[in-house]
Amino acid sequence: AVDAPDAPKPGILGRLIGQQPDAVKREFDDAMLEGLEEVLIAADMGVDTALRVAANIAEGRMGKKVSVVEIKQALADEVARIMEPVARPMPIYAKRPQVVLVVGVNGSGKTTTIGKLASQFKAAGKTVVIAAGDTFRAAAVEQLQVWGTRAGVPVLTAPEGSDPASLAFDAMTKAQESGADLLLIDTAGRLQNRADLMEELTKIVRVIRKKDPDAPHNTLLVLDATTGQNAINQVEIFRNLADVTGLVMTKLDGTAKGGVLVALADKFGLPIHAIGVGEQIDDLSPFDPQDFANALVG
Ligand code: GDP
Repeated sequence: AVDAPDAPKPGILGRLIGQQPDAVKREFDDAMLEGLEEVLIAADMGVDTALRVAANIAEGRMGKKVSVVEIKQALADEVARIMEPVARPMPIYAKRPQVVLVVGVNGSGKTTTIGKLASQFKAAGKTVVIAAGDTFRAAAVEQLQVWGTRAGVPVLTAPEGSDPASLAFDAMTKAQESGADLLLIDTAGRLQNRADLMEELTKIVRVIRKKDPDAPHNTLLVLDATTGQNAINQVEIFRNLADVTGLVMTKLDGTAKGGVLVALADKFGLPIHAIGVGEQIDDLSPFDPQDFANALVG
């Protein structure tokens, strides 16, 4: 079985190279360049980024014989190079409480991410308070309470439909009084009425600044990595609604759709603080550019 083809390639190059054994050499020609551009675009890297990455790989290789292994390596290197500058954990300040505002559309994994973050900080010996700021979604508040119990972290709530800013203000007061290290504030994610959402977020920021002019110290945007180019739109929208300081990319488990991270890094340069890799409390990992690049390329 020496000549048996390799198993189907799982990563983004699978479509380009199909069953071709890794060691077989082919001439790098225009057709290969175009094929490469297509698979990178199909992998959600975005047109601009995909074309540039493909061009970088083609450089010095046009007309030469190349192996699949070499292309894979070159692509992984290109992706890792783009991702390296954005792979940065959430900065921790001496500030007490450090206020972390968490924004993102409903369903992106905000609640889950807050639960995971709370658990990680708690495990690192920090005292954490969560404010269930999406007061319009009773289910979100309940879900956050479940996560708070799991993480062993108190969750401050307010009656359904009440003003999220006044909850944030109360939470800030309580967190300051108790000397908590971190205050994680959930927010609403209804994009249907953007003006309302902007007003809501602006008001939350305004009132917590009455307690600490530097707050929020971090504004995390949670994005579902499986939504492809939608994630780009969401960054554009939320950057206008709030002063986003970093990203958490969720649902990177079991998806070859992570290409949008490359587009995001290339376009916005916002740090990726963590990635969600499952639905359990420990399924939040630091973002590792090389691991990511290898997994994406496959
Ligand atoms: P929210 O509406 O933004 O608060 O989103 P939730 O936290 O409720 O998450 C929406 C759904 O995505 C839930 O079913 C979560 O279990 C799931 N989810 C969140 N993060 C991840 C992740 O990293 N991986 C996977 N597979 N599912 C996730």
